[in-house]
Amino acid sequence: MPAQKVLIVEDDAHIRRLLRVALERAGYGVSEAGTAREGLSLVDIAKPDAVLLDLGLPDRDGLELIQLIKTRSQATVIVVSARDDTSEKVAALDLGADDYVSKPFDTEELLARLRTAFRHRLSTQAERVLVRAGNVEIDLDHRRVRRGDDTVHLTPKEYDVLAELAKRPDRVIGHTQLLRTVWGPAHQMHVDYLRIVIRGLRQKLEEDAAAPRLLINEPGVGYRLATGER
Ligand code: CA
Repeated sequence: MPAQKVLIVEDDAHIRRLLRVALERAGYGVSEAGTAREGLSLVDIAKPDAVLLDLGLPDRDGLELIQLIKTRSQATVIVVSARDDTSEKVAALDLGADDYVSKPFDTEELLARLRTAFRHRLSTQAERVLVRAGNVEIDLDHRRVRRGDDTVHLTPKEYDVLAELAKRPDRVIGHTQLLRTVWGPAHQMHVDYLRIVIRGLRQKLEEDAAAPRLLINEPGVGYRLATGER
C-alpha cells in the first residue's frame, strides 16, 4: 500500500516543520501550505488522504476551508484549534470536520487521531457492524449490545445515541449532531436530554459510571466512544 498522504495547512513555519518531521517519521507522505489559498490548490494537486487544518490562517478563515475541502476531496479533515475555543470546535464539526486537536498539541496524540481517522475510513468501506469498546460489544446490524457475556437492555434513545457514537468510534460527535439525529432538528438545543441519556448509558456500560472510560465527554463539544484501540 502506498504511503498515506497528509497535507498540513498552517501559517506558523515552526509548527509546520514540527508536524512534517513527526508525520514523515510515522511514514506518511507530507505536503504543506502556509495559506488557505495554497492549501486549497494542494488539495487538488497532492490529493491528500488527510488535511491538518489550522483555523487561524492569514488570508482566509480556516472554518470556510472545511466545506471547500470536503466538496472537492474525500480527505479526512482534522482541525488544529486554539485550546479553549469551544465554539470554534463546535462550528468546525458542524461544517464537516472529522475531528480536532487543541493547541498546543501533543504529537503522539495527533498521530493517534490520524490513525483513528484512517482506520475509520477503511472500516466504513467494509461496513463495520460490530463495534467493540472495552468489554462492550455493539451489534449495529441487530441493535444488540452486550457487556461481557450479558445482554444489556437499553432504552431506544440510549441505543440510538450509543449507535451514533459507535458508527464513528474514537471520534468526537457534536451535541448538535447527536440531538438532531436521535431527537430530530427541533430538539438540537436540548443538551440536557443528551446528558440524561449518557448518564443512563454510563450506568449500564461503565465499570464506574463516575469515572467513565468508554463514553468520554468533550466539554462543550460532544461525546466520544473510546474503543481503547490506538
Ligand atoms: Ca495560525
